[in-house]
Amino acid sequence: MISFNVPPVVGNEMKYIKEAIENKKICGDGVFTKKCSAWLEQKTGTAKALLTTSCTHATEMAAILADIQPGDEVIMPSYTFVSTADAFVLRGAKAVFVDIRPDTMNIDENLIEEAVTERTKAIVPVHYAGVACEMDTICGIAEKYHLSVIEDAAQGVLSTYKGRQLGTIGDYGCYSFHETKNYSMGEGGALLIKDPENIERAEIIREKGTNRSKFFRGQIDKYTWMDAGSSYLPSELNAAYLWAQLEVADTILDNRMRSWNMYFSSLKELEEKGYIQLPVIPKECTHNAHMFYIKTKDLEERQDLIAYLEAKGIKAVFHYIPLHSSPAGRKYGTFYGEDRYTTKESERLLRLPMYYHLEKKDIEFVVEQVKRFYLG
Ligand SMILES: *Cc1c(COP(=O)(O)O)cnc(C)c1O
Repeated sequence: MISFNVPPVVGNEMKYIKEAIENKKICGDGVFTKKCSAWLEQKTGTAKALLTTSCTHATEMAAILADIQPGDEVIMPSYTFVSTADAFVLRGAKAVFVDIRPDTMNIDENLIEEAVTERTKAIVPVHYAGVACEMDTICGIAEKYHLSVIEDAAQGVLSTYKGRQLGTIGDYGCYSFHETKNYSMGEGGALLIKDPENIERAEIIREKGTNRSKFFRGQIDKYTWMDAGSSYLPSELNAAYLWAQLEVADTILDNRMRSWNMYFSSLKELEEKGYIQLPVIPKECTHNAHMFYIKTKDLEERQDLIAYLEAKGIKAVFHYIPLHSSPAGRKYGTFYGEDRYTTKESERLLRLPMYYHLEKKDIEFVVEQVKRFYLG
C-alpha cells in the first residue's frame, strides 16, 4: 500500500528529544523552542515567530490580537480547513465565505471588496497547497477599509509571493507543524507577527495571560496576570522534534519538490489530452511542494478514480467539503455572492500520495495507474 502521508522523520529527532530530557527542561520556551523561533525569524524575516501548540491555536491568538469581537465579520474562503473559521467563530464573529479562483483554489481577490461591510474586521487568505493568494490586492483592500490580514499559511511554510515568505505579508501569519505538513512536531504551529508593537501582548496571551516570558528573560522580578490569555506554548519535546526537521528544511523541501516535479511532468500528457487538470503556480509565486493534486472531470469520475487506485494499493484522497455546506458553517457563516467554483472545483480535486522520501518507483507506479485509468 502506498500511503497518502507518512510523517517526516529525518534522523536527529530522538537525539534532540533526549537532550531536552537531559536538560531537565521539558516544558516550553527552552533551548529548542528558542532555536526554532530564531530559525523561523531568520528564514522568513518576520519580526517575531512564536511557536504554538497548533496552527489552530496560532489563528486563535491572531483573532484575539486583532480584537475580533462578537458580531464582527471575517472574510475567508469556504474551501478551507475548519480551523480557519473556528478561531474567529470562537470570538463570536461571523464567517463570510467568498468564492475561490478555479486555478489556484485560493480566495478570489476580486470578490473580496464587495463582501466588505461596516462590520468587517479581517480578511483571512488561505494559501492552499502552499501556493500564495493574490496578496497585493488583498492587502490593498485591507488598507482601504482598515482591516487586519491574518494569513492561514498552515501549508505555506517556505513558499513565497513576490519574493516574500508566506505568513510575513499580512499582520499575522499562522503556520502548522502537524504531522501532515512539510515540517512537523506532531502537533504544533507558529504565529508570525509583523508589527513589533504586537509582540509583547502575543507573548502574554500565549503564557496564560501572564508576563512570564519577560520574567524568564530577566526583564522583570516577578510575573503576574496581565491580560486574558490561554496556554498556547508547546513543550520542549515537541520543539526538539521540530528542530531536527528545520535543521534540514532545505533537504526536505528539495526532496518534496523532486516528487512534485516528477508527478507534474509525467502527468502532463493526460492534461494535454484533456483528461485532467494539473495545479497552476502563478508566476509571482514559488511553492513548497506541500501537495500534489489533479482535477478530474467531475465528482463521479473522481470517486471512480479513488476506488480504482485503492484497488491497486494507492491511497489518494479528496480534500475539504466547503465549510458553508456544513452544519456549523450554516450556523456561523454565510456565503457571500455566487458559489461558482467552491463546490464544483472541490468535487473534482484529488490529492495523490506526497510526503518526504516518497520513493521514485512509487511515484512511477501511481502515475502509471492514473494513466491506465484514463487511457486503458
Ligand atoms: C493543517 C491546517 C490547519 C490546522 O493546523 P493544525 O496545526 O492542525 O491546527 C489550518 N488551516 C489549514 C489550511 C491547514 O491545512
